[in-house]
Amino acid sequence: MNEEKKRVFIIGGGITGLSAAYYLLKEIKEKNLNMEVTLIEASNRLGGKIQTIKKDGYTIERGPDSFLERKTSAAKLAKDVGLESQLTNNATGQAYILLKGQLYPMPEGAVMGIPTKLSPFVTTGLFSPMGKMRAAADLILPASGNKDDQSLGSFFRRRLGDEVVENLIEPLLSGIYAGDIDKLSLQATFPQFQQVEQKYRSLILGMKQTTPKKPADAPKLKKGMFLTLTGGLQSLVDAMEEQLVGVKVLKAVKVDHIEKYGDYSYGISLSNGEIMTADNIIITTPHFATASMLQNFKAVAPLEKMKSTTVATVAMAFDKSAITEEIEGTGFVVSRNSDYTITACTWTHKKWLHTTPNGKVLLRCYVGRVGEEAIVEQSDEEIKQVVLDDLNKIMNISALPEFTIITRWKQAMPQYAVGHKKMLDDIKDRLTEEMPGVFLAGSSFEGVGIPDCIDQGVAAVTKVIEQYNKQMIRV
Ligand SMILES: Cc1cc2nc3c(=O)[nH]c(=O)nc-3n(C[C@H](O)[C@H](O)[C@H](O)COP(=O)(O)OP(=O)(O)OC[C@H]3O[C@@H](n4cnc5c(N)ncnc54)[C@H](O)[C@@H]3O)c2cc1C
Repeated sequence: MNEEKKRVFIIGGGITGLSAAYYLLKEIKEKNLNMEVTLIEASNRLGGKIQTIKKDGYTIERGPDSFLERKTSAAKLAKDVGLESQLTNNATGQAYILLKGQLYPMPEGAVMGIPTKLSPFVTTGLFSPMGKMRAAADLILPASGNKDDQSLGSFFRRRLGDEVVENLIEPLLSGIYAGDIDKLSLQATFPQFQQVEQKYRSLILGMKQTTPKKPADAPKLKKGMFLTLTGGLQSLVDAMEEQLVGVKVLKAVKVDHIEKYGDYSYGISLSNGEIMTADNIIITTPHFATASMLQNFKAVAPLEKMKSTTVATVAMAFDKSAITEEIEGTGFVVSRNSDYTITACTWTHKKWLHTTPNGKVLLRCYVGRVGEEAIVEQSDEEIKQVVLDDLNKIMNISALPEFTIITRWKQAMPQYAVGHKKMLDDIKDRLTEEMPGVFLAGSSFEGVGIPDCIDQGVAAVTKVIEQYNKQMIRV
């Protein structure tokens, strides 16, 4: 057995880096691996975009508020760290699209905006008769011969027409990526839709076939598709941090740059002047930070061109009496064809009951998306006023919020442009040659959702261990 411990460094203490550290430590303990792990985080706290505030009985998420249950790694992680009893699904309720000043219920059976039930689409006021006829053309249009990557916009416009895209699909997708639907990559975001077209020709018929049917004995009260933790998502971060005993965690230290000493040997230069030597590095920082620390390496040069969008979340807490007319439902997304600055609003007190004390109301709005980012630079007072003005157009709010929490997320939403997957594959190939033992993971690469980030952290750990095993065989 090689006497020298392998030195693994994980850069970035968001959910990707934390998951990598947590699962690597588990492997080290279970398999008695001769490795030491160091996690380096630039800020003075772990969690990255996951940040929860507890105030006056409210639980307020500054960043993500939940994750998709269907992607299982986040719930698994919560269970692994002992938080299973805190997992809770969202309360279901009507979601709306705000279009030209009016709230329209989301047509029942719409999967990411694609109709799977006929009558809600025929009867909705969200589209004109012409728009509906154009969407129905999907039933007869041939599958495209283009199997390459393309923008989400061009794909959906071709199948369902501009109106369905602009009034329904764009606002839904914008909620996830805050991006330009005509630039976002289909293959890097929703490759399943291209597969459905190739297999079933019609998106509507294909989605109808592939969407799981509700069993006849399904309970009347539907379970929501999302999960969160009653203690706030920060409790996941805190539990992981507590259990990282054996991992050296450095906070408030930034990685400036990385240089190569030899294969599987690198120098990591820190903002405090220290230089650390590593055998393996898992880099989980946003792409621009990754590109900057690896600027001497050609492999990652394409990351410099990758864009990201700036948004802000605005949480407002009210006394119930301030909302004179409550709308039944859990929130709405805003179509670009509307004269609004907010891009979405969640009636958090109704979607996540544990977040809000009795008799109170918690609204969480988003501002900023590609092309509309200037609002985020405004002062808190200005943002608050703009959001209140927008909300008042549809909600009749008769008193000021008891408090408002604004969180600016600059360059926080990575944009997967057309060709993103190919760019990543090229980077990975070149990285293996140029920097063996260095792996990239995180929201800039293979999915922005919390479960996607955890999956990437775990995948990087698997690669580190594969390499370790190979090296152990050789010695
Ligand atoms: C407002 C908002 C709402 C969202 N809502 C949801 C949601 O509801 N559900 C969902 O699943 N996803 C949501 N997301 C997406 C999800 O939160 C993120 O994709 C995910 O948390 C990113 O995790 P990460 O670890 O990859 O990156 P980050 O959380 O960005 O972590 C990267 C870390 O690297 C550190 N770092 C940067 N540079 C350096 C350096 N040079 N040296 C050392 N450390 C460095 C940073 O300080 C940071 O802590 C949301 C995102 C935002 C912004």
